Amino acid sequence: MNFYEILGVTPDSDLSEIKSAYRKLVRLYHPDVNPQGGKKFKEISKAYDTLSDPAKKNQYDTLNGFFKSAKSDINDNIDNNSSSNAETPIRENCNNSTDKSFREKYFSGLFESVLSSKSASKSSEKLIPKDGTDINVDVTVSFKDSRLGCNRVVNVVCSKLCPRCKGRKFINGTKCPVCSGTGEYLRHKRIKVKIPKGIKNATKLRIKGEGTEGSFGGKNGDLFVKVFVKSDDRIQYDGLDILYSIPISPFEAVLGADVSVNTLDGIIKLKIPPKTSSGQKFRLNGLGLNKNGKSGDIIVTVSIEIPNILSDDEIKLYEKLKNISAYNVRENLFNE
Ligand SMILES: [Zn+2]
Repeated sequence: MNFYEILGVTPDSDLSEIKSAYRKLVRLYHPDVNPQGGKKFKEISKAYDTLSDPAKKNQYDTLNGFFKSAKSDINDNIDNNSSSNAETPIRENCNNSTDKSFREKYFSGLFESVLSSKSASKSSEKLIPKDGTDINVDVTVSFKDSRLGCNRVVNVVCSKLCPRCKGRKFINGTKCPVCSGTGEYLRHKRIKVKIPKGIKNATKLRIKGEGTEGSFGGKNGDLFVKVFVKSDDRIQYDGLDILYSIPISPFEAVLGADVSVNTLDGIIKLKIPPKTSSGQKFRLNGLGLNKNGKSGDIIVTVSIEIPNILSDDEIKLYEKLKNISAYNVRENLFNE
């Protein structure tokens, strides 16, 4: 039994009500009038000693989670969300907390009178401000998105100070029913993050105030988003130039071909002329990266790739080609 229950008063009772309740009980349990009342009388005296002293009472209330006017706490702040991002509370209890049956289940009896009181909570203001923690998440974007900028939605799970017990875990001596005595409740947040144009690999973006919520006037933590730019073996960069390595087949090298090249402005066709050798370079002017009004180029280097799997017919055709070819590719190799 807590001190309020022992004296039959509530945390809202003023000093005169506490005194009057105490006097009534003394008349019933004082050892002079009730020889069996010794243990009970001790409890009553201890409770009165604390509750009649404002400093001791305040300390007792803070430690045990007693505070006035629980009603406004139940209804407020649960879905009050200053952020424009949608949040979904994980604990279903929070949604039910305005439900009458829920309240009756948890706040019945002696403290029903506390619920109907409108006076504001005083003790929460005396608690020490605690800043929220930062949250770190990673996102990966394609090279194109990194060049052009994009928006990403990140899902974070962050804890919020329990709106019912304000982090004190206990209410009137019992475990808080909203947070089950953890003092916080978890919620999913979907936060839209703007990835700025031209972001470099492994850049950390800071989204202020979107971390874990601070308590008792403390600052919110921040959300840090580390952005990774997907790498591609076929793409390299040289200043503002984008260097592509593009494979072509032997017959494309001989006969010429149109190959698709992915640029920041979309896919374009690059004309490979007949009789192109491996390692030959093609420059697409002005299609590279842009910075401060300057544009780089795309430089495509082609390489002839031989398929791993060749059909018998293809092999026969290569043999035929070998037999009819008069050109010796290594003719001048050792002549110097
Ligand atoms: Zn709670």
